[in-house]
Amino acid sequence: MISYGHYIGGKQVAGTSGRFAEVFQPMDGSVRGKVALASKAEMSAAVANAKAAQPAWGATNPQRRARVLMKFLELAAKANDELADILAREHGKTVADAKGDIQRGIEVIEYCIGAPQMMKGEFTEGAGPGIDIYSMRQPLGVVAGITPFNFPAMIPLWKAGPAIAAGNAFILKPSERDPGVPMRLAELFLEAGLPPGIFNVVNGDKEAVDAILDDPDIKAIGFVGSTPIAEYIYGRGCSNGKRVQCFGGAKNHMVIMPDADMDQAVDALIGAGYGSAGERCMAISVAVPVGEKTANELVKRLVPRVESLRIGPSTDSSADFGPVVTAAAAAKIKDYVDIGVKEGAKLVVDGRGFTMQGYEKGFYVGGCLFDHVTPDMRIYKEEIFGPVLSVVRAKDYEEGLRLCNDHEYGNGVAIFTRDGDAARDFAAKVQVGMVGVNVPIPVPLAYYTFGGWKRSSFGDLNQHGPDAFRFYTKTKTITSRWPSGIKDGASFVIPTMG
Ligand code: NAD
Repeated sequence: MISYGHYIGGKQVAGTSGRFAEVFQPMDGSVRGKVALASKAEMSAAVANAKAAQPAWGATNPQRRARVLMKFLELAAKANDELADILAREHGKTVADAKGDIQRGIEVIEYCIGAPQMMKGEFTEGAGPGIDIYSMRQPLGVVAGITPFNFPAMIPLWKAGPAIAAGNAFILKPSERDPGVPMRLAELFLEAGLPPGIFNVVNGDKEAVDAILDDPDIKAIGFVGSTPIAEYIYGRGCSNGKRVQCFGGAKNHMVIMPDADMDQAVDALIGAGYGSAGERCMAISVAVPVGEKTANELVKRLVPRVESLRIGPSTDSSADFGPVVTAAAAAKIKDYVDIGVKEGAKLVVDGRGFTMQGYEKGFYVGGCLFDHVTPDMRIYKEEIFGPVLSVVRAKDYEEGLRLCNDHEYGNGVAIFTRDGDAARDFAAKVQVGMVGVNVPIPVPLAYYTFGGWKRSSFGDLNQHGPDAFRFYTKTKTITSRWPSGIKDGASFVIPTMG
């Protein structure tokens, strides 16, 4: 049994609150260990420690900070198999998919090696008589990241990389469901030369999160998780005067036009709908075929593919996907399927009864496929976060576009078509933050930014890319006059350079 405490000030410390949560191994339903849930006092102590460590790190030149990240990359590459194994065991996704999770995080660290470039300010010589103006980016101090269970490597690294590279001290409050990878990342950062207290992991639940929200020494919070919690954190964090960005839930549509390459569209839907058991914020959960003929053809082709999905334990390299994260998640997903049936959607593939031979206690849900889903149904409106794909039939392109735009979530979306005009019109008009054209999971690369629209995101800057450096730094602008000795008397009007 593993016992996770916290990682504070460069060392593992045991939790003192006396409260713990179980950490499961979803593939067989066993309890892998327990994780300490921090009290408010433990969080305050971690923040005080980080606050003491931050000034020296912030004053370290950005190139040296970047070198620590370079060393981290080397160590993370060596630890890749071990990290993927921990991740797959605690999350449930396959080892191959876990490696993708790690890789997407690593790519952001690679981007953050450009910190010296990202931290550069601007300079205007001679903005007025003897006057130069320049700006600089400075770290905020202590900042925090609160992250979800579904990408336990990628999202902590998306948050920590830019925060640390910019010279902040970082407190990570990872998901209590899979804390193993974040704890290991803390060790790797330390081994790479990061000073103690700059990357801290404080495990916990609502109490730890509330302590972050109310601690006056935490200047910024980056959150990723479900929309109700995102909204709560955004509201309370902002009202406490912090800089807050929160990324929430999703219901990603894929519009399939009548001229789409149907083989390509079906492959895309199978991978994007059922990969990682649908536990991705960029998973496609709604297929929108345009026209009856397209819909009939799509469903006809999808059915055998969904029926023959290979589900397996996370360590099975030939599995398409593994179990979901907890027994409660599996039950919730099956409940949604029951609701869909009651609402009148046609369940054409039913995975509720799936059990994995030899792993009967694992948290498995078989692939489910609904046809004739309508926009008033709960299974359409709400995020299921499981291997359940809903087909909503649209009579024409306009209706397909309207569905995407009217949905409360706006994280990702895709259109499959061979018509450049339709693709261009869609990209311009769709009210969604990340758009794929014949690409089902359009997660932008590290040097672009990641973020949804509508109720998928709260706050005005995105994750990673240049926005992340803006989020984790504050800008100072200096107007200076040299040479000294210029005497033009007192002025009582607002200064202008005109
Ligand atoms: P979650 O909202 O349950 O938990 C996220 C974090 O908030 C965790 O660290 C958790 O401990 C904390 N938390 C949970 N309940 C809380 C409460 N009542 N008060 C304070 N803190 C609380 O999300 P999850 O189940 O871990 O992750 C899945 C969700 O995350 C899905 O909705 C998914 O769409 C979303 N997600 C979004 C993105 C994105 O970039 N938009 C990326 C990944 C996941």
